[in-house]
Amino acid sequence: MLLGELLIERGLLNRERLNAALMEQKVTGNRLGRILVRNGFLRQSVLMAVLHEVAPAALHEESVILPAIPPRILHETRSMVTADIGEQIYISTMSPQAVVRARLQDYVGTREIIFSPCNPARLTQYLQQLRTIGDHPEESPGGWDALIRRAMDVGASDIHIIPRPHSYTVMLRLQGVLHQAHEGTLEEYVSLASRIKDQARMDMAERRKPQDGGFAVEHNGRVVNLRVVCMPIVDGERIVVRLLDPDSMNFDLDNLGITGIAEWKKGISRPTGLCLICGPTGSGKTTTLNASALSMSFTQQAIYSIEDPVEYRIPYAGQVNINKAVGLDFSDGLKTFMRGDPDVIIVGEVRDIETARNAVKAAETGHLVLATLHTGSILGAVSRLRDIGVEGYELRHLLRAVMVQRLVRVVCQKCAGAGCKSCRDTGYKGRTIVSECTYLPGEKDVNQVLEGQVSWKSIVHDAVEKARSGLTNEREIRRVFGAEIDDYLEASGMAQIPQPEAACSAS
Ligand SMILES: [Zn+2]
Repeated sequence: MLLGELLIERGLLNRERLNAALMEQKVTGNRLGRILVRNGFLRQSVLMAVLHEVAPAALHEESVILPAIPPRILHETRSMVTADIGEQIYISTMSPQAVVRARLQDYVGTREIIFSPCNPARLTQYLQQLRTIGDHPEESPGGWDALIRRAMDVGASDIHIIPRPHSYTVMLRLQGVLHQAHEGTLEEYVSLASRIKDQARMDMAERRKPQDGGFAVEHNGRVVNLRVVCMPIVDGERIVVRLLDPDSMNFDLDNLGITGIAEWKKGISRPTGLCLICGPTGSGKTTTLNASALSMSFTQQAIYSIEDPVEYRIPYAGQVNINKAVGLDFSDGLKTFMRGDPDVIIVGEVRDIETARNAVKAAETGHLVLATLHTGSILGAVSRLRDIGVEGYELRHLLRAVMVQRLVRVVCQKCAGAGCKSCRDTGYKGRTIVSECTYLPGEKDVNQVLEGQVSWKSIVHDAVEKARSGLTNEREIRRVFGAEIDDYLEASGMAQIPQPEAACSAS
């Protein structure tokens, strides 16, 4: 069976996306799987698992040139890495599997090694390629390329490079929390900083003003964008690199952990109106926004977005970056989109009256507008819009759905939070969204919200429920919500959060 048909049969892809990918394939000649992954229609890990099962020979075509395993070991064991994804690493080899497994164990940690068939000609070619790369001067262990790969391998979202009086520190942000990853000399820092600034196309001589830049690297068959911010601090320049790995993004609206997702989907399936995603910075708003856009039919609707800056690509959408240098802001972007025959308009953030006005105008003239706001509750979102000048009658007429969200870490399934190799001794693995959401089908419903009537479960309620079920825990929700947890417990007459009933069986 053809790959595309198989993916449809298994519910991993729909016909519309397959047809779009096949059309792209006709033009580019790229492999279908690669196109699907590149467009965010399919995760690479899913593609590899399906290929491994139904067409293992097709894995010959895949290879990873800068794997987690040193080239020397690959040469000695006559092996190649066909894919290196999250919890699995795919290897094809000419040596006995048991030998290879033993030699690789130290480098792959707790990840599972999966053997795929070996094509000797392809293996030889791969090992030659590795040698060519090896001819270049070796990267030091603290080298920049190695650091980026390592950050991607462990699924970090950001790299912080922090100069201090006598040395410098590298920290990686994993699941929302910083971890120290490297300590080096100031000499090393100076060459690292100029290397990054060069790569991110920044002004090398400028050390006193903050700068933004970026670049992209190819990692395991997908393009990962890196956004770099350089800020002067007393000991030099602190450099923060955000990794935007499409494969670490959860594109599936149903799998983000949003309790009231059905309400939200009703809101965004309306042809017109305003839907809001709210929360502080780092609450996963962009993920929900992108997953919402990806759930729409982007070959039947014209989708536009204006972002600061564009982080993840939405296929076929018109995505525009805010550009302060040429005076292009959220409000201008919205005005431009109105002339571009839009169906859906996405506004990265509503933070001023001009943007709010243009978003309202776009919704009024028969479009669906998705926007994010920097507030912590549904009532807060409504009063924030009122504060910046949106009238009550406009909201009554246009508001369709409001969601407020935060991210909390999920307790590691393997050790039930005690700490193990798989969760890097943090006790947590992955994150989920805690949220409050309401769908507002008519004016009557919005009116109730404007009057302060609450008909939905609060975000703190959702957090407490998720701690109670053992998905997360009390320590984590207290880290995120602080004293709000006590206020909630007191208001609902609970002395404490009941212990999760079946947390111990998850081993
Ligand atoms: Zn663990």
